[in-house]
Amino acid sequence: MPVKDAKSRAFAAYVEEYGEKPEYLVRAPGRVNIIGEHTDYNDGFVLPCAIDRDTVVAIGPSQDNNIKSLSCDFDAKDEFNPNQINPSSQEWAQYIRAMAKHLSLEGHQIKAAQLSLAGDVPLGSGLSSSASLEISVGLALLKQADIEIDPTQLAQIAQKAENQFVGCSCGIMDQLISAKAQKDHALLIDCRSLDTSAISIPTDVAIVIVNSGITHSNTGGEYNERRAQCEQAAQHYGVRALRDINMEILDSQRTNLEDMAYRRARHVVSENERTLSAAKALKDNDLQKLGALMRASHASMRNDFEITLPAIDSLSDMMNDIIGNNGGARMTGGGFGGCVVGITTTNKADNLIEHITAKYRTPLDKTPAIFKCKAWYGANIIN
Ligand code: ADP
Ligand code: MG
Repeated sequence: MPVKDAKSRAFAAYVEEYGEKPEYLVRAPGRVNIIGEHTDYNDGFVLPCAIDRDTVVAIGPSQDNNIKSLSCDFDAKDEFNPNQINPSSQEWAQYIRAMAKHLSLEGHQIKAAQLSLAGDVPLGSGLSSSASLEISVGLALLKQADIEIDPTQLAQIAQKAENQFVGCSCGIMDQLISAKAQKDHALLIDCRSLDTSAISIPTDVAIVIVNSGITHSNTGGEYNERRAQCEQAAQHYGVRALRDINMEILDSQRTNLEDMAYRRARHVVSENERTLSAAKALKDNDLQKLGALMRASHASMRNDFEITLPAIDSLSDMMNDIIGNNGGARMTGGGFGGCVVGITTTNKADNLIEHITAKYRTPLDKTPAIFKCKAWYGANIIN
């Protein structure tokens, strides 16, 4: 993790690169999904909260007609003409171009600008650095052009940008929570209607995130493959999305649906039910119930959706052993690595962190990055 915070790094790099101060600083958070994995693109339910880690964009007017950006974290630059946006060979720059392109496609007249970006959301770890980048860049480009839009609309544009320009078929969760989160609350999102309901996180509840040190790539095949498998299963049941069936229909109308497609569907259908129950358990401060649901979610991701890895399973088990009945732990994010989220009482959190620091080793034989996070604010303009 960077020594200086993202805001001062983005600001300092802007001044150094462009020889003047930026006009605006904009931030958007990463997120942790408490429960509801791979349900968003099935029109289902998710329960994420934003975390106190951001991508920060410093922005100001351009001296020419191009959009220039500078990535502090990759120590790299990018430049393009906003009227003719082609793909970049640099992955990070794809997200900037994607947002500029899709804001324009939606009719928002963004302006030439210069940007510098820095973040402290771990990349490729299931905490959605990509959505925090998209939302911060989108909000910055809009602010620079004096345009105000609704956070849900911004999230929808960012999702389209990631789907169509970057090439990852992600759902709406990451962008929506980054744009709309409320401090000290998780957000129960209905990914079909996009209705949200803020669930207060009790003050004695701690969220502990352990980075397994195993990185994934969402643009890699597995994520898109799971999405295609879910669409096939929905077709079998004759519904628009797996959101539209329950466990009873899943079994009674299975007929000749083959085992793998059935198990993929079972994960999604049962995960939707767990997510709704978990929102209620959180609201009721019933950590024992919430923990049981989180463990069942992990087992379903391992056995039915097959997106965990043995190292992630044992990290999750380790955390659950320590947490016991005072909450629970599960892998969070798209899968194949990334982070495990633990929910427990604040007075148990330090003990959990101590034990995991002592027991778990990353693939490079290092102690894992662990942080106690606060449920944080959605995107905003800092000054
Ligand atoms: P996740 O969203 O789980 O962190 P993704 O693979 O979806 O993982 O997105 C990670 C990618 O997003 C990075 O490889 C990089 O291209 C881009 N990205 C995220 N944060 C930043 C940042 N601070 N600066 C530049 N690029 C970033
Ligand atoms: Mg992502």
